Amino acid sequence: MDTAAQSYDPQAIEAARQAAWRAREAFATPAIDGDRPRRYIKPSAPFTSGNIHIGHVRSYSIGDAYARFWRARGEDVLFAFGFDAFGLPAELGAIAGGVSPSEWVGRCAEHMKDQLERLGYSFDWERAFLSSDAQMYRWSQWLFLILLEAGLVYRGTGAVDWCDTCQTTLATIQVEDGLCWRCHNPVRLIQRPQWNLRISAYLHENDERLSELERSGIWDEVALASQRYVLGRVEGVELDLVAGPGGASAAGAPDGVSPDGAATTLTAFTPHGDAVELARFVLISPKHPQIERWAQGEELRAQLEDLRSGGLERDARDAEAIPLIDTGATLASPAGGESLPLLISPVVDGRFGATAVLGIPARDHADALIAARLGLAADGDGGGEAEEMASAEEMASAEEMASSDGGPRARATSDDGHSSGTPAAETRPAVRYRANDFSISRQRSWGTPIPIVYCEGDCGAVAVAKEQLPVLLPLDLKPTGEGNPLAEREDFVATTCPSCGGPGRRETDTLDCHFDALWLWVPVCVPPGEREGTLEEILALEDLRAWLPCERVVAGSDSGNFVFDQRTVTKALRDIGPLAFLGDGEPFAGCLFHEMVIRDGRKMSKHLGNVVDPDELVARYGADTVRLATLYAARPQRSLNWSDSAVLRCHRFLNQVWDFTHSQLGAECREPERDTTEHLRSRLAKWCDTAVEKTTEEMGALEMHSAVRNVMRLFDRLKDYEKRVLARGDALSEADRHSLLAALGTLAQLLAPLTPHIAEELWRALGNDTDTQMPWPGVSSQVPA
Ligand SMILES: [Zn+2]
Ligand SMILES: [Zn+2]
Repeated sequence: MDTAAQSYDPQAIEAARQAAWRAREAFATPAIDGDRPRRYIKPSAPFTSGNIHIGHVRSYSIGDAYARFWRARGEDVLFAFGFDAFGLPAELGAIAGGVSPSEWVGRCAEHMKDQLERLGYSFDWERAFLSSDAQMYRWSQWLFLILLEAGLVYRGTGAVDWCDTCQTTLATIQVEDGLCWRCHNPVRLIQRPQWNLRISAYLHENDERLSELERSGIWDEVALASQRYVLGRVEGVELDLVAGPGGASAAGAPDGVSPDGAATTLTAFTPHGDAVELARFVLISPKHPQIERWAQGEELRAQLEDLRSGGLERDARDAEAIPLIDTGATLASPAGGESLPLLISPVVDGRFGATAVLGIPARDHADALIAARLGLAADGDGGGEAEEMASAEEMASAEEMASSDGGPRARATSDDGHSSGTPAAETRPAVRYRANDFSISRQRSWGTPIPIVYCEGDCGAVAVAKEQLPVLLPLDLKPTGEGNPLAEREDFVATTCPSCGGPGRRETDTLDCHFDALWLWVPVCVPPGEREGTLEEILALEDLRAWLPCERVVAGSDSGNFVFDQRTVTKALRDIGPLAFLGDGEPFAGCLFHEMVIRDGRKMSKHLGNVVDPDELVARYGADTVRLATLYAARPQRSLNWSDSAVLRCHRFLNQVWDFTHSQLGAECREPERDTTEHLRSRLAKWCDTAVEKTTEEMGALEMHSAVRNVMRLFDRLKDYEKRVLARGDALSEADRHSLLAALGTLAQLLAPLTPHIAEELWRALGNDTDTQMPWPGVSSQVPA
């Protein structure tokens, strides 16, 4: 390159470097090579919405810097992702654009790829894919069947919003103030059969493993907190309560025995282990496994059905409206006094999962409110906390409170002496989790078809054989917002029953794209040429095993649910067999969750007019500046409050580095009569060593904001060195210049993961080879062979 003074031109430099990377396939995933160190770094799978926003830029700038850092240190890196292409946003985009969803996501993915390439991210595009490719969504279908066989997918009923006018179910975000987003008519809740994922089977293990993840030191605090939040662990005690007079016998069964012959005891939980004697009632979740036993009689059943059809979702924020159904049953009090009424209420689910809990008004605001509604005294003496009635806000926040260890209420102590003189109830330590099974089916056409056939004869719901996968989704569907276009496609629906060969009808619900996310992290571990085989074959590939577990996930802090469910399903596949090689069932060794990009303290939205457009910034300042600004502005675990001044500061810095380096390249040297600057040179070398040491540590710990500051500081010291040398003479000696150029080389190397284009261009200008990976300073591979 011509080293004559020329100004920093990011557009030209970035185009040239990107072309060079493409030409030498710089980011191709290396073939598995014995014991070479390797790491799979997983960026988040973007929704194929059509545009890369500044939040993506933050996320991928962190992940890319990490990936480039490890490549520079000589490790083999897998850095690739799949587009999350199914789901409602794509369906709505297609409706708005008047095209089929498959055409829509194809276009969106192309555009997003262009944007990401312009930003210079080092993804292996050869391994990228769309989750809506048939070869890919068969993963969802296969996983569905495997989990179904294991009893981890099951059929139940659930409530969905339904618009009579549009004849379609609606997602929560499509219901605006109780009205349909499309026709603005009132929406009602209907009950539908749903396929559910039984994550409850692995809550305990996911909880137990958290301490291991924490000890590993490579799960950051935000990621760990998200896992705890999703889990919603509550510690307490449980005890068995025997049905009292008028208990489950309400339907005519003999006392103490349920209609199915089992003794009627109910295990109840409470986080207030020291206050079980103060219980005044018992609440049971409508999803409790034994609920049928306690909801006897037609009227009660009808009420329960109503409750299950989801009235709660609508009114959950209104404390007065949280449904309570009196079962008429009572349970013996642990204090031996008056027996406790048993009530069904979904308030239990949001706090403790599908369980039964003691209502202790003296200890719990929500319980105090319920006691008041039931006309029960809080405790014998009245008083205590029951005087402070729960407000609606407190009830609404009960969910959040339950997520911490028992919440603020658990810390309340009350020495009211009620336990004295009463025989202590038989309690045992117990734990409950708020997390629970959830529905995975959706009544929409743009999703993975569920591989189930309903026999027209007697076979019922029959699973499609795994060898018959994929069940193909017709690609020419054009959703309009009305009905479910998939259900109207006779060529899709009509089929034969896999069991008896008679006529059958396909399931027309599709899988929620959340289900696709359960496996989206796996296929990039497989070279594209190996993706044809059966999934059993693919999961047995050496390549896949060599890359797993993923060394680090870098994703937004809103990914907690995804990661939690991925951890759950990995354990299921470990126990079933295909992922048995992941002994602890953890798909991710490490996890970094970064916070969002906000502006003026608020979330960015078109509505607020405060959106930052990365394309505009890149066109104006170049990709390196935009990347550097997002890394510099905040620690990943903190919200990045966008400021243009960070962009300007970073742009000025890169300009100065460029100008300074080039000013040194052509400059004349003069040999002084004696060497008076040796101490300055040795100090410069020390500064470089320190910068390398610290930056190495920070990059490895994903503390890029500190790394940027270190590199900026090193640059200040380089300038300071030149100034001090010049203070002792007219010009730099050859030795001085040599030291300075070496230091500038180190600076370029440290910058390479952060601002790869300018760094490589400077490295080249300093006379180095850029046909291969730029090495990290201070590692042996730096020494030329
Ligand atoms: Zn409608
Ligand atoms: Zn059949």
